[in-house]
This record gives sequence, C-alpha cells and structure tokens, in this order.
Amino acid sequence: MIPILRTVAEVRALARGWKQAGDSIGVVPTMGALHDGHLSLARRARAECGRVITTIFVNPKQFNNPEDLKKYPRSEEADAALLGTVPVDAIFAPEPEEVYPEGFITTVSVGGVAEPLEGRMRPGHFDGVATVVTKLFGMTLADRGYFGQKDWQQLQVVLRLTRDLNLPIEIVGCETIREGDGLAMSSRNVRLTAAGRRKAPVLYAAITAAADDIRAGQSDRMAIREAAEAMRHAGFDRVEYIELRDAATLMPSDDPARPRRMLAAAWLDGVRLIDNIPV
Ligand code: AMP
Repeated sequence: MIPILRTVAEVRALARGWKQAGDSIGVVPTMGALHDGHLSLARRARAECGRVITTIFVNPKQFNNPEDLKKYPRSEEADAALLGTVPVDAIFAPEPEEVYPEGFITTVSVGGVAEPLEGRMRPGHFDGVATVVTKLFGMTLADRGYFGQKDWQQLQVVLRLTRDLNLPIEIVGCETIREGDGLAMSSRNVRLTAAGRRKAPVLYAAITAAADDIRAGQSDRMAIREAAEAMRHAGFDRVEYIELRDAATLMPSDDPARPRRMLAAAWLDGVRLIDNIPV
C-alpha cells in the first residue's frame, strides 16, 4: 500500500529523509480522478527520480466556476490503486484547510503568458494554479515537477513562474495521452453523455486538419474558421476559442519559422474540453 499523507508536516518529514539519503524527488501534481495521462507522468517521474510523490488536491482556488468544482470527479481509492501500479512512493492528499489555513493571504500571479486564452476565459484560474503549484513545490522539496502538454498554457505558466521566482526545480513537460479515437484523456470526459463521447474526438480531428492545412499553405484564419465550423457541425454547443499562438509566450503569431501551437476550448454536453497541438 502506498502511504497517503494528509499534512504538510508529514510530507516534509518524508521528503527531508529522502533528501538526506541522497535521493532526488519528483512531484506529479494532480486533482485526482486519475487516468492514463496522469499515470504517464508518474511513470516518467518513476524512471527519472529516486522518489516520486503524486499529489491529489482539487484546488478550490483554480475553479472560477463553483458548479465545476462541485461536480469535479473524486475517486481517491481507485486513484491509489492506479498509482500502486506505477508505483509511486507516496500520495499527498491534503484537505483544503491544510493547504489554505486560517490567515492564508498570498497569491502567486503570473502575467503575460497567463493572460490570454484560458486566463481570459477563466478569470483567477492561473492565479490559483500558480499559487498551489508553488506551494506544492515548497511542501514536497521536489527536484523535478511533471506536467502534461494537454494543459499547454498551464505548462508555460509553470515554466515561467519557476524561472521568474528562481525555484530550484526542473519542469518536465510530458506528451498528451489520447484515447484510441484521438480524444485527449481528461478527468472531465466521464461527464460526457454517450452521444457526447462519440462527438468529442472531433475537437482533435478539427485542429489536426487545420494544422495540416496551414502547413500546406492555407491561411491561418481560413483553416481556423473551418475547424470551428466542423466542430459546430458535429454538435459542439460552443467553440470558445481556436487560436494559433507562439508556443512559449502564447501571444498571437503569424511567423511559421517559430514554434507555434494551436489551442482550442469548446463546450460539449455542458462539459468544457480543451486540446492543443504543435503547428
Ligand atoms: P489534472 O488532474 O487535470 O489537474 O492534471 C494533472 C496533470 O496531468 C497536469 O499536468 C495535466 O496536464 C496532466 N494531464 C492531464 N491529462 C493528460 C493527458 N491526457 N496527457 C498527459 N498529461 C495529462
């Protein structure tokens, strides 16, 4: 059985002991409801670090929508069993009061890269992410932090804050794990109806087609318009954005010589799906 720690004092004591023994520590921050995407991060950490801590914390500060927070799937027992297959060395699953005790008042707020796209659609979201990630790094004394490219903008925000605050941790970005039909794995996918689940892969298919068209010489704008049209036609309720951006700064980019990323967010069945690919 993998130990499940609930307090900062416990995780700190464990991490200190590991450090004294000369082990490096990898941390994999998650919100639980684990799937193969999360496990791929944990496996990578397992391969690269002496010790691995997976954190499971549904961080209230990064939810701008109370309904989304309430409905967020929770499955700690199943999560622990999955992490046993990796296996990781410890699970840190604190209560919100442990992470944000009475008197907590600090916010880590990243500018620039955190402002457009998700930052605009979900006010306060990246402040919540940046704050909790900084705290988790401090709590676990991790040498490496593992994050998925599935949340591309989040990964860039974490890279930025780590650099800006001189945090002594290396950030490792891991490939997006997909279902057989291309849908990016996400804890929110379980909230789709059967019909919604059948339509959901159109998100990835549409941005993939757009990226191919752009590489073949079609205008960015036209390719994006066609992708949005394909998604609406497939039954998506709303396309929030499909954008071609500089991969690191997330600013608009029409320079094909620089690494670019196509990022999209759309609603299906009352579930908000996001995805992104290199262009
Ligand atoms: P979450 O529990 O959704 O906050 O995700 C925790 C971590 O797992 C984040 O770094 C995500 O980017 C990563 N992640 C989530 N889904 C996937 C996926 N399909 N492939 C790779 N990484 C993922």
